[in-house]
Amino acid sequence: MTDRVYNFAAGPAVLPIPVLEEAQRDLLSLPGVGISVLEMSHRSPAIEDMMRAAEADIRTLAGIPDNYRILFLQGGASLQFSMVPMNLLGPGQSAGHIVTGHFARMALQEARSVGNINLAGSTEDDGFNRIPGQSELELDPDAAYLHFTTNNTIFGTEWQEEPDSGDVPLVADASSNIFSKPIDINRYGLVYAGAQKNLGAAGVTLVIIRDDLLERSPDTLPAMLNYQTHAKGNSAYNTPPVFAVYILGLVVKWLIAQGGLEAAQRRNREKAGLLYDAIDSSEYFRGHALPGHRSAMNVTFRLPDEDAEQRFVDEAAAQGLAELKGHRSVGGIRASIYNAFPVEGVEVLASFMKEFERTNG
Ligand SMILES: *Cc1c(COP(=O)(O)O)cnc(C)c1O
Repeated sequence: MTDRVYNFAAGPAVLPIPVLEEAQRDLLSLPGVGISVLEMSHRSPAIEDMMRAAEADIRTLAGIPDNYRILFLQGGASLQFSMVPMNLLGPGQSAGHIVTGHFARMALQEARSVGNINLAGSTEDDGFNRIPGQSELELDPDAAYLHFTTNNTIFGTEWQEEPDSGDVPLVADASSNIFSKPIDINRYGLVYAGAQKNLGAAGVTLVIIRDDLLERSPDTLPAMLNYQTHAKGNSAYNTPPVFAVYILGLVVKWLIAQGGLEAAQRRNREKAGLLYDAIDSSEYFRGHALPGHRSAMNVTFRLPDEDAEQRFVDEAAAQGLAELKGHRSVGGIRASIYNAFPVEGVEVLASFMKEFERTNG
């Protein structure tokens, strides 16, 4: 315990300490079972119960009604980039994608390898420092769906509210801000998220899909790429990523115990506010995302030059503030402060920033 640092990694990312402690405590033997969760058949009652409980807790936490299915899949968020069009895009149909960052661009590219995808909006010309306004979007009322990325992990921007897609089902990659605030699932047709940022360990992808969209999957798809296969098999058509689902279940239980999604939003706003205040009150640090478009999960900023940025990262690391380097494609500093990141660590970073500016600015 004593050598844990403040981990600002973008993903895989920090987990709640009580989750790590429970997993550690029960690793040799799940209570009442006598076998590790790593060693048990995925068809054993204990694992089936564990997966059912994880699903039920997700429904409780986020208010997911019965007309949505909850799936635990593999292949990361990246496989959803192609699974979504394979399943939801009918013959002759097209879908829209809004491009607000790196992963949104990858989602567009992958979807285009499957079918006909229109660019419904992009902020690439602005260096992805903002989210497009509703009036900038080019929406096709006949589109099969509209895909957007709720939080842009690399650039540090976040949709403050969903785009209005009318009657067109909204599909969201929520990998880096899922369950960081309340979600009105009724606005969505499908939401997916790789677990390793805000929900747990790498290896499982959460997919929440409305029943009517589930009916679109063509029979001609390979079984593993078909949502219906996984829905019918209760996410155990083949061996699911049992341990990753187990950790996800513990994280969701922890979120419920912490007061649910509104409480999570309060904590996340407080944490992000500390860092954006430090940026805004400084002449030295420059935030990347425009105010009003800023992410509560990934706070991105620049220093006057790359040498200063490298010194900042190195000196921070020496003081137990780890993984602050921005993504290699954009540089600068990125502080990822997901649900499990403690407010104390954010306070330490904010005062480190002030001190660094005083001595370097
Ligand atoms: C990290 C990330 C991905 C990629 O996730 P994988 O699970 O590695 O495929 C996709 N979208 C967003 C928004 C991400 O942050």
